[in-house]
Amino acid sequence: MYDLEVERIAEIIKEKGYSRVCLQFPEGLRDHAAEVASQIEELTPAEVLISANPCYGACDLADAQAAELGAEALFHFGHAQLLKKTKIPVHYIEVRLPHDPLPLLEEHLASIPRRVGLITTVQHVHLLERAKEFLEARSREVRIGEARGRVRYPGQVLGCSFACARSVASEVEGFAYLGSGDFHALGVALATAKPVLVFDLLQGEVRSIAEKRERFLRQRFAAIAKAKQGKRFGIVVGEKLGQRRLALARRIKHRLKSLGKEAYLIHLAEVTPENLIYFRRLDAFVNTACPRIAIEDAPRFPRPMLTPQELEIALGERSWDSYEMDEME
Ligand code: SF4
Repeated sequence: MYDLEVERIAEIIKEKGYSRVCLQFPEGLRDHAAEVASQIEELTPAEVLISANPCYGACDLADAQAAELGAEALFHFGHAQLLKKTKIPVHYIEVRLPHDPLPLLEEHLASIPRRVGLITTVQHVHLLERAKEFLEARSREVRIGEARGRVRYPGQVLGCSFACARSVASEVEGFAYLGSGDFHALGVALATAKPVLVFDLLQGEVRSIAEKRERFLRQRFAAIAKAKQGKRFGIVVGEKLGQRRLALARRIKHRLKSLGKEAYLIHLAEVTPENLIYFRRLDAFVNTACPRIAIEDAPRFPRPMLTPQELEIALGERSWDSYEMDEME
């Protein structure tokens, strides 16, 4: 099902003359790591190292660690390029999935609005033009937002950037998300306030994100209400290069202190409940690392974990009606 482009990787290794390379996979593709490594070692003289640290995006490259281990290049799977400067050359194997969205679009045509925006993740960006043609032939006006900011392809969204969707939101009645899972669709629904239908190409089903959006907002409202009482805040700074927002964290710290609160900058690579559990004196956290953390993992944290925008609501500097997703440039 996956084309992990082993032959192309072998060609690159031979052409560049690399003698040691590192492979980095997100968890969903890691099952294939050993097989890919063994094929590369058969096809080339290079030694292959496999990074096993958690990896959720191209914001989180193992280039520095690979360089320390003597690797001359990193092959990063499953994401498109995001960072420009790296310690060693990084080659991106984006991994396109060969799904056909047309049968699902056909079956659920009646639920697709007349003016619709198409969005997806990098694994499915190659499907958007076909889906657009298909829908336009069936009386739909289709918009696909241009690539911008940290996003590389038209119509692509990341957990930290819904810019493609926002850029066409005023021209559409709703969005169709082609992909899998609910996270990105939920992000678009929150960032644009438009209805979003998930065309789940893995499960072969279509669902609305509306109920999930309401449930999410109720949870966030409760977390904000709890943090409002807080006196001592931990401001989380991500160590991963593409998640690091130290200047923002500093501004938040100064703001909190100016309001008479205690505020501390806490830096770490993996922002997990386990890594924060012993900060028992703190009442709440504000996350400036990957914005997905505050959305997906929030219920697992022992104390409220707010986004910077949610902190503004807690401090009375922003109204609940102007709730916004946390995004990165
Ligand atoms: S910051 Fe988070 S959402 Fe953005 S690319 Fe990295 S892992 Fe994905």
